[in-house]
Amino acid sequence: MSSSRVLVLNSGSSSVKYQLLDMRDSSRLAMGLVERIGEESSRLKHTPLASGGASREWTGPMADHEAALKAVSAELAKDGLGLDSPELAAIGHRVVHGGRHFTEPTVIDDAVLAEIERLIPVAPLHNPANLTGIRTARHLRPDLPQVAVFDTAFHTTMPESAARYAIDVETADRHRIRRYGFHGTSHAYVSRATAKLLGKAPEDVNVIVLHLGNGASASAVRGGKCVDTSMGLTPLEGLVMGTRSGDMDPAVIFHLMRVGGMSTDEIDTLLNKKSGLIGLCGDNDMREIRRRIDEGDQRAALAFDIYIHRLKKYIGAYYAVLGKVDAIAFTAGVGENAAPVREAAVAGLEELGMVVDGALNAVRSDEPRLISPGHARVAVAVVPTDEELEIATQTYALVGRI
Ligand code: AMP
Repeated sequence: MSSSRVLVLNSGSSSVKYQLLDMRDSSRLAMGLVERIGEESSRLKHTPLASGGASREWTGPMADHEAALKAVSAELAKDGLGLDSPELAAIGHRVVHGGRHFTEPTVIDDAVLAEIERLIPVAPLHNPANLTGIRTARHLRPDLPQVAVFDTAFHTTMPESAARYAIDVETADRHRIRRYGFHGTSHAYVSRATAKLLGKAPEDVNVIVLHLGNGASASAVRGGKCVDTSMGLTPLEGLVMGTRSGDMDPAVIFHLMRVGGMSTDEIDTLLNKKSGLIGLCGDNDMREIRRRIDEGDQRAALAFDIYIHRLKKYIGAYYAVLGKVDAIAFTAGVGENAAPVREAAVAGLEELGMVVDGALNAVRSDEPRLISPGHARVAVAVVPTDEELEIATQTYALVGRI
């Protein structure tokens, strides 16, 4: 293939994140972000990595995603990398919800668009924004292959025993209620990268992946395939997150309605935006929480303890699900940077073969690395995630076959 570039787009309702990669060597040529689309003060920040130039910022009105993508293309064109370049092989789109239907990256056509649209009821916040990004990109480059890479796809290998909620089967099926899981591109990338770090093939290792960012999820990966993950129908289930509650008794919701007099939307906002770390202590940034703990702040300390307690429960649960664990991998903003979280999550699990070496854990690096001592039965690893590279790799592999 002579064209070797892939543009990765992650479209939100009022934002677009993008990266342009050259797949001959997986290098990043440019990256950027458009925010506040549809407002008077839309903002574009563009970093031309190939030329090594300084970041450029632009603020002004951008009416819609089409205006935003045209502005991105204009910035890319300044370095000869515009959307109309013949070097561009494909555009890879992050799509949050692919339901049960999309088990792999998929070349987008009208039928695929219709199916992503059909999934809006189970992803009302994300899929409409992803669709807008896809439609805009197709409008600007109708001749170019566009690929949807789904956050849920990696988890479609979960057995029914892990994917089904124990509720009435007919009701569940009628409303497509089941556990789909999210952050799939990250879990896929990190589980493979962890196998590589151990010098083994993904088929030969069992890994627990802990994706700890502002959103957080755990997965149990057996021989390269996901067998359980902590997020469910939506990204609300599972671990304590920056602003989301994670697991709780669903009756809390009835209680808030009946006794608290709250509406469905109010409870949705409470559990998704005002819970988790921010609800517990007023901060969702782990750096700030650690700083407060160092100053003796009790609320921050309790929030940290609740966060770690939940994390540890999932490590134990996935150890039991997998039976044998070769590695546990920490990734994303908190997992890659917060040594105290890694230390506390694994503390006391020596009987399970999990130990963290204090000196190795304290090392700061952007490289995948082991933080367990050489003799440990289970390797504990820090593996920086790279969702854009994963989306670009999957996109390029697919368009190379068509
Ligand atoms: P992500 O969603 O993966 O971008 O992760 C964002 C979160 O990572 C932030 O909200 C912080 O809690 C956390 N984070 C980022 N950098 C650090 C750091 N140096 N130390 C501790 N936590 C960090």
